[in-house]
Amino acid sequence: MSVRVVTRIRPLLKHELDKDIIVTAESHENESGTKGRPTVVRIPNPKNDAESFSFQFSSVYEQDATQQELFEAEISPTVKQLFNGVDLSIFAHGCTGTGKTHTMRGGKSLADRGVIPRLLSAIYRRCKKIEKDSGGSTQVEVVLEYYEIYCDRVYDLFEPPEKRTPSGLPIRDNNGKTVVVGLTEKPCATLKEFEQLYDQANTNRSTSATKLNAHSSRSHAVLCVKITQTTETTIRISRASCIDLAGSEDNRRTDNNKERLVESSAINKSLFVLAQCVDAINKKQSRIPYRESKMTRILRLGQNNGLTVMILNLAPTRAYHLDTVSSLNFASRTKKI
Ligand code: ADP
Ligand code: MG
Repeated sequence: MSVRVVTRIRPLLKHELDKDIIVTAESHENESGTKGRPTVVRIPNPKNDAESFSFQFSSVYEQDATQQELFEAEISPTVKQLFNGVDLSIFAHGCTGTGKTHTMRGGKSLADRGVIPRLLSAIYRRCKKIEKDSGGSTQVEVVLEYYEIYCDRVYDLFEPPEKRTPSGLPIRDNNGKTVVVGLTEKPCATLKEFEQLYDQANTNRSTSATKLNAHSSRSHAVLCVKITQTTETTIRISRASCIDLAGSEDNRRTDNNKERLVESSAINKSLFVLAQCVDAINKKQSRIPYRESKMTRILRLGQNNGLTVMILNLAPTRAYHLDTVSSLNFASRTKKI
């Protein structure tokens, strides 16, 4: 069981071109004396600009890193393990506006596609290969679930918003698994079919609230890909979960609006529990507090001998200074001044 934490610093956006860049990446020489991909992020101390903090990661992706580069290096190598029965969780973490959705979903063009469509493409390629190599004796089935967790309530994204029960779907423990009761399971055999289902479901998400972006940045979106490989004598099931997390900007800001307060405390709590789970897994502790939030509980984070990749998205400018430092503190346990 392991968690790999990488960072991705997004480029400046058009309206930011005159802004101050305060987040930088550094490469360190490895044993063979060559410089590889950067592994350190440096940022000034918000209380004293003359000082800076540095944080260590498995890898740091800079402004010019492409979607393909990130996918090939971080996600592609996990696909083989997924088919060997290992559960995979991929998280995009960071403040609103730092590139989580860009990283997970990406843009329309082939080059712009994010982690999710690339992962599905790799999964379908592998399904075909397995079926072909086994001469048809192994069958592989792919089933999708897509839901959002908003204020600790689970809503099915394959259902139109008007069909939602306000209290959300119940979750139950069943034979050592945590299941969301009543979630749509969509069998999906091809990439083309996936793209249609996924695009449709994403419109369910954004039209479900009057406050469009405001809403989507306040919920966690979870796409779960369940892969079942069946032979005459065996069944192997594994899951890839891709999570576009709610924005991690300072959610403690008091807001007179009651709805906002409920949202904030739910987001704070689930991101806090997520951080504790990641920490416990990396420290190889036997107790992982996954039951303490709905998100970590449904994902059974740290329970199934799974593999987790956390992508921390960062904006490079001073406007995000405090939130960036707190994101870095969350994601990296090794900080140096
Ligand atoms: P989030 O989901 O974290 O709120 P978005 O993914 O919506 O953030 O990104 C915010 C804006 O930045 C969008 O306009 C997006 O297209 C742009 N953006 C984010 N990351 C990149 C990147 N690596 N390259 C180009 N544009 C990016
Ligand atoms: Mg987003």
